[in-house]
Amino acid sequence: MSENMAELVHNQKEKQTALPIGQAAKSAPDLSVARTFLKQTYGYNSFRGLQEDIIADALCGKDVLAILPTGGGKSLCYQIPAILRAGVGLVVSPLIALMADQVDALKAVGIRAERLDSSISYDAKREALKAAANGKIDLLYVSPEALATGLGNALATLPLSLIAIDEAHCVSQWGHDFRPDYRTLNRLKVLFPNVPRMAVTATADGRTQKDILAQLDLKAPAIHIASFDRPNLTLSAEAKSGNKIDRLVSLLKPRIGQSGIVYAATRKGVESLAEALTRNGIPALAYHAGLPAETRAENQHRFLLEDGLTMCATIAFGMGVDKPDVRYVIHADSPKSIEAYWQEVGRAGRDGEPAEGIALYGPSDLRRAFMWARDGDADDVIKQTQVTKARQLFAFLKGSDCRRAAIRSYFGEIDPDPCGECDNCTSNPSETFDVTRYAQMAVSAVLRCGQKIGRTRVVIHLLGQAKDDFDRDLSRHSTYGIGTDLGKNVWSMIFDELLFENILAEGGEPTRPYLYVPDHSAAKRLFNNEYTISLNSDPTARRTRKSRTTSAKVAFSDLSECDQLIFEALRDWRAETARQIGKPPYVIFHDRTLAALAQACPSNPDDLRQISGIGDKKVKRYGAAVLDIIKHTD
Ligand code: ADP
Ligand code: ZN
Repeated sequence: MSENMAELVHNQKEKQTALPIGQAAKSAPDLSVARTFLKQTYGYNSFRGLQEDIIADALCGKDVLAILPTGGGKSLCYQIPAILRAGVGLVVSPLIALMADQVDALKAVGIRAERLDSSISYDAKREALKAAANGKIDLLYVSPEALATGLGNALATLPLSLIAIDEAHCVSQWGHDFRPDYRTLNRLKVLFPNVPRMAVTATADGRTQKDILAQLDLKAPAIHIASFDRPNLTLSAEAKSGNKIDRLVSLLKPRIGQSGIVYAATRKGVESLAEALTRNGIPALAYHAGLPAETRAENQHRFLLEDGLTMCATIAFGMGVDKPDVRYVIHADSPKSIEAYWQEVGRAGRDGEPAEGIALYGPSDLRRAFMWARDGDADDVIKQTQVTKARQLFAFLKGSDCRRAAIRSYFGEIDPDPCGECDNCTSNPSETFDVTRYAQMAVSAVLRCGQKIGRTRVVIHLLGQAKDDFDRDLSRHSTYGIGTDLGKNVWSMIFDELLFENILAEGGEPTRPYLYVPDHSAAKRLFNNEYTISLNSDPTARRTRKSRTTSAKVAFSDLSECDQLIFEALRDWRAETARQIGKPPYVIFHDRTLAALAQACPSNPDDLRQISGIGDKKVKRYGAAVLDIIKHTD
């Protein structure tokens, strides 16, 4: 941070020392210092959304629970009060990669941050602790494991300004990413009874919120819950049909040049997908927990540093990745819950520019979600919650309501407006086609064939196409050949519906599932016509949708041709500079900042400071280079 900023911070800390740590101030805190700090250090002109309220509460020493959507700017909410209050800020964060990224970004704006995790040597840790004790560090990042293994006691001697618990939903078994290590965080209250704590997360339904408060035992917390809307995300979901790889290639071809993530459920799926995409001319990398650590690190590094790569990954990838210009997140296999979906999709468009979330789903995904729930080692009550969450996710994916509004309602917002942009908002309300009669035939066939038969075979049976002795054996049943009105595809869709509705279920080996009727009362209702199963009017046609293909090169459509030239020149310079310092380009400047530079064409350092994303340190470090490029490209 610049000298005058350092002095301002110092004075502010002194003022705060007058107040015993942890004691709430009587009057509202003076936010002008926080605003100046925001501008001069981070280069941002104003706080966003709830940031200011959260910071105000934290500055006066309250415990806080803050729930902000991904990209909502959670980090600033704890960084600023932690720096402005007397003492060192402690940030608990679940992933080393996440910490490394944050610490890099903080150092780049001149904030003195260090991390203490298992990848840091003993000596380096001791150095950092010493520096912290001498007031030479603003923020210390620690992992929950490190706290559990004794570091807590070493930290107990430090004057702490604030403890931030990032990804706080990990503390709750009701959340979607429970981490047992997080349970040890209740020690923090014992070790630091007088230090205010702030729990932040992007996803927590009501039950998870309560659990976070209880587990961490926050004291009369101020609770801030932001809207879950992400207006720059365009969402869509489509039922899987045909060859999945072909579908993904056709989705990705028009997006070549953009960075994005494709999530698949299995390691094998990830690898074959990355290979297939590369073969089809789409630059792609693979990431999953089974790859050697160096390969993983290398691929993650390349994804951050290079523009325009597609990362094919399991959910092992992402939590530590704060890349702001991810333009799409595609679920090649569906996630486990709406929380997981929203967190994963939330990795797109952190820079606020248009980005897309596309989910593919099928009954095998639902089955996998159930298996995950069933085979985990959680209590039965939790397993039941997970099954319910999987059902809610599929109701959402199959649903015809506005996607964004559905998500917002799920997280508790009342009557959110439709977004007007998602697949459901933009498609014509489809006529439905009542297929209850056929659904009855399908369930009858499953029952008659003994409930130990796979879906392909039941369809062959319905179509009266016996292929071998087994099928011929079944041909004596009255359901043999009764389904010739419909083609295979339509039958397959009907089976999908029956699986989604839980009138049929799949059992057996994951690779060779058989169909059975899990609940005879539901089947009975279907036979009594108390249950309607319907498909779109033209169930054989693949749903085609308008896919908004943003210009592959950059997403900034509001730039004039001349601005575009400067923007590209700045981007080239940024790519080169990033290569030289071995850091991701966005640590230098975000695309948005480059676009603002291209539009404003500043000619001196003061003008540079007016641009969002440029603070003192960046003016000093990059100002001359940027001004030079603008001057010579204009
Ligand atoms: P989260 O952790 O909530 O996903 P981050 O804290 O990483 O989000 O912030 C997302 C992005 O928004 C970051 O690039 C951050 O620098 C930027 N940002 C945060 N607050 C502001 C603000 N007030 N004005 C402009 N940009 C901001
Ligand atoms: Zn919508």
